[in-house]
Amino acid sequence: MTDPETPQQTLHRIPVQPWRWLPWLIASQLLVLLLWWQLGWGWGLAALVASHALFVVPVFLPNSRFYAPVVSHLPGPAVWLTIDDGPSDDTLPILDLLDRYDAQATFFMVGERAAARPELVREVLRRGHDLGNHSHSHPQSRFWALGPARMAQEIGACQQALAAIAGEPPRWYRSVVGMTNPFVGAALKRHDLARVGWSARGFDGVGCEPDKVVARIGRDLAPGAIVLLHEGSGHGHNLAIIQAVLQQLQAQGLSARLPRATA
Ligand SMILES: [Zn+2]
Repeated sequence: MTDPETPQQTLHRIPVQPWRWLPWLIASQLLVLLLWWQLGWGWGLAALVASHALFVVPVFLPNSRFYAPVVSHLPGPAVWLTIDDGPSDDTLPILDLLDRYDAQATFFMVGERAAARPELVREVLRRGHDLGNHSHSHPQSRFWALGPARMAQEIGACQQALAAIAGEPPRWYRSVVGMTNPFVGAALKRHDLARVGWSARGFDGVGCEPDKVVARIGRDLAPGAIVLLHEGSGHGHNLAIIQAVLQQLQAQGLSARLPRATA
């Protein structure tokens, strides 16, 4: 943690105790029972709702460390561009843009999509960028609620698919829609994966308006920022957004580098 010789290690934090939440969950539910028994159902029910909220809310906070460590900011002057959801038809044009602006990025790929288009994965690596695990099938609406076996399968199968193409497994992981439930940590530990959050995002989902997305990202572009970007989205604006972000980085004199080069 404090060794200045291995800055990568400080960023690359694999969960050490992925089940540490479990005793707290059991203890909280015993406390609920005790309150219910001693003070009646009113207090018992309030305690039940509060205790469940305590364990559910962190799932929806992308930079919460409750269930697993997360990198949400970098030391040093560079910015970390992270591009989720590929590979896609956008991948090659994005690589050209990154070349043009002398920028590096980590592509958080979906295992199934990578397996279907391995030549794009190899091209990403050939041009000096990095890969990350972004689940095997990207089950967007259900990811937060996946049980332990399904979560292990989503993360493990993506890891396998990317390793088969790249020759080595990725070291970084990003949760689908940023949701990290109680079972993510164990899978990360098994695969030596470190979770990556973000500090700059544009909310480029449904109803995407590129100008507003870029303005929202732009507010948080600063040394050490981790920028959340996407490719292959149905709205078709990903390229324009990435180009505008690269322009803004250049205007601010910021460079986009992979984390091992920044520290
Ligand atoms: Zn995604």
